[in-house]
Amino acid sequence: MSPALTVLKDVFGYHAFRGRQAEIIEHVAEGGDCLVLMPTGGGKSLCYQIPALLRQRAGHGVGIVVSPLIALMQDQVAALTEAGVRAAVLNSTLTGAQASAVERDLLAGRLEILYVAPERLMTPRFQDLLDRTRVGLFAIDEAHCVSQWGHDFRPEYIQLSVLHERFPQVPRIALTATADAVTRQEIVERLALDDARVFLSSFDRPNIRYRIVEKDNARQQLLAFIKAEHMASDGTHDSGIVYCLSRRKVEETADWLRGHGINALPYHAGMEAAVRQQHQARFRDEEGLVMVATIAFGMGIDKPDVRFVAHLDLPKSMEGYYQETGRAGRDGLPANAWMAYGLGDVVQQKRMIDESEADEAHKRVSSAKLDALLGLCETAGCRRVRILAYFGEASEPCGNCDTCLEPPATWDGTREAQMALSCVYRTAQASRVHFGATHLIDVLRGNATEKIRQWGHDKVSTFGIGADRSVSEWHAIFRQLIAHGLLVIDHGGHGALLLGDSARAVLKGEMSITLRRQVSKPGRAERGGAGRGNRVDHTAQMDEQALANWEALRRWRTDTAREHGVPAYVIFHDATLAELARSAPDSMAELAEVPGIGAAKLERYGDELLEVLQKA
Ligand code: ADP
Ligand code: ZN
Repeated sequence: MSPALTVLKDVFGYHAFRGRQAEIIEHVAEGGDCLVLMPTGGGKSLCYQIPALLRQRAGHGVGIVVSPLIALMQDQVAALTEAGVRAAVLNSTLTGAQASAVERDLLAGRLEILYVAPERLMTPRFQDLLDRTRVGLFAIDEAHCVSQWGHDFRPEYIQLSVLHERFPQVPRIALTATADAVTRQEIVERLALDDARVFLSSFDRPNIRYRIVEKDNARQQLLAFIKAEHMASDGTHDSGIVYCLSRRKVEETADWLRGHGINALPYHAGMEAAVRQQHQARFRDEEGLVMVATIAFGMGIDKPDVRFVAHLDLPKSMEGYYQETGRAGRDGLPANAWMAYGLGDVVQQKRMIDESEADEAHKRVSSAKLDALLGLCETAGCRRVRILAYFGEASEPCGNCDTCLEPPATWDGTREAQMALSCVYRTAQASRVHFGATHLIDVLRGNATEKIRQWGHDKVSTFGIGADRSVSEWHAIFRQLIAHGLLVIDHGGHGALLLGDSARAVLKGEMSITLRRQVSKPGRAERGGAGRGNRVDHTAQMDEQALANWEALRRWRTDTAREHGVPAYVIFHDATLAELARSAPDSMAELAEVPGIGAAKLERYGDELLEVLQKA
């Protein structure tokens, strides 16, 4: 067995590496620099933790991990400590005395892995400590934080290039889940990683099922989705995250869900810090909690058993969508990414871009990013193919997204597209200004509102020509025309629509348009049909004895986690408990074979586990 595999098994209790982990670990353990691009949940942590341990044990010194996320650092250190690793953290949450103790351990060579916040790393005090310490490697987590274009820019990250200048012999591993080529290049330049090897993994998360539904009554749709797919017959439900754009909507949605039997909590940047932290801790520690949050929530959460991520509002970009949905199913078990989306979302996001303080170049980039996401929402093809293509990866239809599972019907919408486009043209021609979808739909349906009479739009040739279609059908048509670039939302924040580049070709009959059929009935999944198969139920295959074991093990885990002040999953993941419940080992040797039980945990908990199983 290779030394890396031995550590994987002994310390972490896992039996095999995932994806490119083995290659990366070997490269870094031998002193090479590298940049690792891996999706959220792909298993980046082990890529630096194992080389750090190997190098420390070979006498090269401590592994220093730079991470911007305080909560995540603490969770990682807690998990490593549970696994018997001598790990510590230096960040602003420590008291002076605690920090001094960590510094003493560092200087005495007692630490194997040290997590440091970037601003602390660059202080003269810490640089001086580094001069007096043997360092085995530097790991730079969330490396995209050096990118000024990205959404997580941290000025302190720019200075991390000095690590290479000051410690040229120490290998560096930079890691990120942000894949696009521009960010990648920026990381290489700013961190002086020109000679580093790049390990690019597939960005696919095959266990996540993507689904995007048309917004009708979004809350009701969400509730139906949770009930159909994430609730057990006894009313308990899975852990999940619901993202909303505004603080107010977060509060309202959490209240409403609670009123409908869902254990939901709000989280947003406007809440008092103490309450926010308490909600985050409850989400981490408790089972079956739904966090309703703005995007402020999620960075720094590595809870492995988040079973669904739902979006009630459209994210800003494919990057955002993928990062947020990536928080589901880190444990590799089936998980859902669900989104409700409507025309209003598109208009709202465009308005936010227009009204932002950013310069024109930035606004253009933001608009293009939003368009890519709209393309995903309106595609009649495989969602995953579309997502991966955005990140530069070719793939085949996945069989695990809504459009693969229930291919949407399409129809020839050329005539309707012509009606809509010519309505845009005629009204603008008549009035010298452009109008939004609501007004245009009124014109098409011959709905003589006051606004229509004011503008004289009851006189234009397109008045009433689309009366045979409902408002919601027209909404779907306009949305798709926007997603196809035939209509463009005007700058200026009022949702006014202009003709896009290829609109002329459609109007002249040179180009036909295929549209997705609007789904008016709830999909099978919402009715509790097809989607059921995607629910993770650890107890599904258990007989009576196994169920008793499972309950006893879970009680034990809750007590133990509370005693140690760590989240339950840091003690053991659900999958490990389920395997224990089913196979009911009755010796230390058998226990050691269960995935997720490493040497330290075997020694610490082995006897207790055997006792719990025996009594159950
Ligand atoms: P990332 O940082 O890339 O988002 P993590 O390092 O948090 O992902 O890993 C995600 C989950 O996968 C964690 O729960 C981790 O324990 C688990 N994991 C990682 N590598 C393996 C492996 N080789 N075998 C089993 N589980 C693994
Ligand atoms: Zn698919």
